[in-house]
Amino acid sequence: MGQLTVGSNPTPSAEAPGGPERAPGDAPSRRLTCGAVDDLDAMGLAIAEARLALDHGDVPVGAIALHDGEVVARAHNERELLGDPTAHAELLVVRRAAEALGRWRLDDVTVVVTLEPCTMCAGALLGARVARVVFGADDPKAGACGSLYNVFADPRLNHEIPLRARVRAAECGELLTSFFLDRRG
Ligand code: ZN
Repeated sequence: MGQLTVGSNPTPSAEAPGGPERAPGDAPSRRLTCGAVDDLDAMGLAIAEARLALDHGDVPVGAIALHDGEVVARAHNERELLGDPTAHAELLVVRRAAEALGRWRLDDVTVVVTLEPCTMCAGALLGARVARVVFGADDPKAGACGSLYNVFADPRLNHEIPLRARVRAAECGELLTSFFLDRRG
């Protein structure tokens, strides 16, 4: 019969009591806001992603997913590219984040997207139990996170998602405005 080996148990006494010390002058950790990347920087990455949609004539909306402060997925709108009505940036980024992490439940993931999610995407974000959502521009025609509906804060649903709205909204909106102006002209 096999003997139990008790070889390398770490001794739990090495840590000083009182927790980790912070030297005076230490910068406050940015992880406190949104992982290693703060919301403004994260939105910058989502905006860069949105621009990629222009290469294939899609409405420029971009999204990234953050886990432990790291980008685990990024996506932009590919509706025209794929001929797929569900290929919105948020929906694609949720799928890709789940694939990257190997699980459907994303309750430790923040999704940052340049445009207020629609009903379909808000539903997908809820279904994934996303921890937090940050969006850029309001979408008065289809927004489901404050504009037309408030899906993330509806007590009838079994999950609520903390939301931060209008981060770098002007830049996100400008991208969309100039896209639609170009298309008309
Ligand atoms: Zn959508």
